[in-house]
Amino acid sequence: MALIDTLRNAFSGRLLTESSDMAAFLTDWRGKWTGMALAVAQPDGTEDVAAIIRWCRQNQVAVVPQGGNTGLCGGATPSAEGRSLVLSLTRMNRVRAIDTSNNTITVEAGLTLQRVQEAARDAGRLFPLSLAAEGSCTIGGNLATNAGGVQVLRYGNARELCLGLEVVTADGRIWHGLKGLRKDNTGYDLRNLFIGSEGSLGVITAATLKLFPLPTTRIAAFVALSSLEAALALLALAQHHLGDGLTAFELMSDTCIGLVEKHVASARFPLSERASWYALIELSSMDDETTAGELMQTMLAQAMESGEVTDATIAASIAQARALWALREDMSEAQAAEGKTIKHDISLPISAIPEFVTSTNRAVVERFALARMVVFGHLGDGNLHYNVSPPEGFGADSADAFVAQEAAINLFVHDEVARRGGSVSAEHGLGVLRRDEAARYRDPTADALMNTLKSALDPLNLMNPGKVL
Ligand code: FAD
Repeated sequence: MALIDTLRNAFSGRLLTESSDMAAFLTDWRGKWTGMALAVAQPDGTEDVAAIIRWCRQNQVAVVPQGGNTGLCGGATPSAEGRSLVLSLTRMNRVRAIDTSNNTITVEAGLTLQRVQEAARDAGRLFPLSLAAEGSCTIGGNLATNAGGVQVLRYGNARELCLGLEVVTADGRIWHGLKGLRKDNTGYDLRNLFIGSEGSLGVITAATLKLFPLPTTRIAAFVALSSLEAALALLALAQHHLGDGLTAFELMSDTCIGLVEKHVASARFPLSERASWYALIELSSMDDETTAGELMQTMLAQAMESGEVTDATIAASIAQARALWALREDMSEAQAAEGKTIKHDISLPISAIPEFVTSTNRAVVERFALARMVVFGHLGDGNLHYNVSPPEGFGADSADAFVAQEAAINLFVHDEVARRGGSVSAEHGLGVLRRDEAARYRDPTADALMNTLKSALDPLNLMNPGKVL
């Protein structure tokens, strides 16, 4: 029997083997990486996943878990040899349980983040993880990458929102760890080992997640800042005035907004004055709209009086709030439409950000002839998408000259980050994109421990080989 037929017999889900059927699973969202695979397996349930993994083990076939394929680091793309199996979890998309008294929801790994949010909302609760790819990315992918997004400031990243996991291990056993407990000190924390492991230790098949009270009011404000330092002062002021209600504090440069205006037809600049930097602030509240709006107004009035904010608008309707958020959320697409990009997903102590951005922006533009800084991110989390685009008017035919600088720019930027105690991957993970750079800056003992864990849990190196480590 041909190898692929033995796999077909091993589980009950769908198996894709035609290249036209597999194509969408073999290239990442940005079109940066393309691989080959023996097949794409789409299991229907956890037992199916376990059977597939046991088959992979018996036949020494590497497995590449995949969710929505929206990851930005090449982690879900198989290598070019074509000897691995893509394991797509998207058919495993059921809500298994909601417990509103315990404030938890248990879902299968292939459910999209948006559907998790909707299921929570239907039960009168909030699942706060939120990012621009939420209509396509899956909760399994979110946990495997420990995704962040726009509300980490208040609710934490995917890791902090997860109480329990169900995982198929590299030898095909099922770990039944779907506990909805907020306290559980019974040994090593396996859940946190699999979260953020990017499919390199096992396959997440289901998760029990934390739910929160659903805010009654959301107030979004878009403000022009007098300087980057003013952004920090405003963040502190917002934290002081809005407390736990401050659910997002996003920073973006005027260059970023310009790209969105250029490439997104519906985008409208909401202020009367331009500035070098803007912030998008969101207050989520249990108060009525008037009370919450007044709280935001009072905070912004104080910031204008002290000079941190030079202009501001508060969304007066849901449509206006959406339009303000679109300016931020359309940024990745606008940048992609502008052409090639050299991206960095860095984090720093928040206090170091103004000095880092000012001095590194200047140095990058001085050292590299073809560089325009496109900087935005989750300032409240110290996380910047510190990107470099070609200068305006740069012809697409010269894209190679721009891309040729990538390794040198990466090294320069990441050295600057490391020098200030930062991280070269804040929320996107490592995949293949940042694997070697992360190793360059990793503490040697941490590196040895990570390799020990990998060989203990996946001794045949079949789980997403070549990714992370
Ligand atoms: P995939 O891309 O399919 O996989 C990502 C990694 O997880 C791979 O290594 C894969 O092998 C592994 N994996 C997937 N599913 C499983 C599983 N069930 N078990 C084990 N391993 C698995 N990320 C952020 O953190 N914050 C943002 O604000 C953000 N914004 C984005 C905006 C856009 C427009 C886009 C395209 C992406 C953005 N991302 C962001 C990145 C991406 O959406 C996240 O990394 C997301 O968590 C990936 O989920 P996915 O289901 O698409 O995973």
